[in-house]
Amino acid sequence: MNDQVNPVIIVGGGQSGLAAARAALDAGLRPVVLHSGAEPVGSWPDYYDSLTLFSPARYSTLPGMPFDGDPDRYPHRNEVVDYLRRYADALDVEIRTRTRVVAVRPGDSGGYLVETDAGDELSAVGVVAATGSFGNPYLPILPGQSEYAGDLRHVAQYRRPEPCDGKRVVVVGAGNSAVQVAYELTKHARVTLATREPVRFLPQRIRGRDLHHWLRVTGADRLPRPVVTRLIRHAAVLDTGRYHDAITSGELPRRQMFTRFTADGVVWSDGTTDAVDAVIFATGYRPNLDYLAPLGALDQGVPRQAGGISTTHPGLLYLGLEFQRSFASNTLRGVGRDAAHVMATLAARVDRRPRLSRQARPTASSAERPTPPVHADRATDGAGE
Ligand SMILES: Cc1cc2nc3c(=O)[nH]c(=O)nc-3n(C[C@H](O)[C@H](O)[C@H](O)COP(=O)(O)OP(=O)(O)OC[C@H]3O[C@@H](n4cnc5c(N)ncnc54)[C@H](O)[C@@H]3O)c2cc1C
Repeated sequence: MNDQVNPVIIVGGGQSGLAAARAALDAGLRPVVLHSGAEPVGSWPDYYDSLTLFSPARYSTLPGMPFDGDPDRYPHRNEVVDYLRRYADALDVEIRTRTRVVAVRPGDSGGYLVETDAGDELSAVGVVAATGSFGNPYLPILPGQSEYAGDLRHVAQYRRPEPCDGKRVVVVGAGNSAVQVAYELTKHARVTLATREPVRFLPQRIRGRDLHHWLRVTGADRLPRPVVTRLIRHAAVLDTGRYHDAITSGELPRRQMFTRFTADGVVWSDGTTDAVDAVIFATGYRPNLDYLAPLGALDQGVPRQAGGISTTHPGLLYLGLEFQRSFASNTLRGVGRDAAHVMATLAARVDRRPRLSRQARPTASSAERPTPPVHADRATDGAGE
């Protein structure tokens, strides 16, 4: 074990980990990022090939660095990868790639020991869990599922439609991924969308402006979960009209969720059966935090936290959780705001340990990293209007 005590170790090198690193620097703490992948670009390279952002470039940035090019375009997945790569470079912090954290345990004086898959143990005052959820897809278990001999997968494993050419496919789910993937498959396969409730839609554009403009100007983007769920009772799919039209015209048939599997297909709620080659579950994700189990920080896999701050372990922080502090928490545009918030609590904790605090001052000049925000709480405004 190395004797050095790091002020903060960030687990995960995606947008959440990078936003945490940026917030740490702004708070005067030099972070170390441990990332299991080859590059600090999160899960974006693993999302399906045709994916474009649901928000325009101007509303899809981390603090201090705009997207290049037209701010009103909807960047492709690969542009996000490139953006995060450049963001990480400009941050100039230590990022150890191909390094998976396998356990976080209690350390000395209320700190933490962070164990990696290489067998290293790093000591830290604070830990930020920024490992997303893509590594933990949620797959429900339905009657007869184990008998089904067809191709059953989560949408996390879906990359492109061509392998489904000419096949009969059911996509399960009523969210953005389900509808986008099912729609894409209509050009290649005989596809049915299976949902428990009718699909609901949110207009992508209102009065000639993207929805995200209105979320920004009305402040809706910062509303906490209870308020948002009172206003919008059901999950809804962002739509320019094409998905709605595809479902109502029958181009993308939608059926009430099937009740069970058979050996070669599904039984629909009206008792009819269909032979099906593939079933794709777009049924969401759960936090990917196994490495925190040894600490006792989880309740059945779910972090015990409020607003990203552990309620059981001081100095343990979370970023990128769904609705962590607002509607925008798990997005490119929202995570920077949360990062500034949680890091302020850790900076106060480190400052109470004077020896560490001196050690923690960043050495890189701020000119080498994305421009610091003038006001920490406006950090995610990025290239906003
Ligand atoms: C299909 C899809 C489309 C989306 N579209 C949008 C969109 O248009 N706009 C938007 O703002 N948001 C979108 N999101 C939501 C969100 O912005 C992304 O999921 C984003 O990738 C989350 O970033 P993250 O850093 O929290 O997690 P990830 O991107 O998942 O990054 C976490 C990283 O941590 C690493 N890791 C995991 N476990 C460990 C470990 N134990 N030790 C070390 N490293 C580890 C992983 O390698 C991973 O790369 C989308 C999500 C999905 C699934």
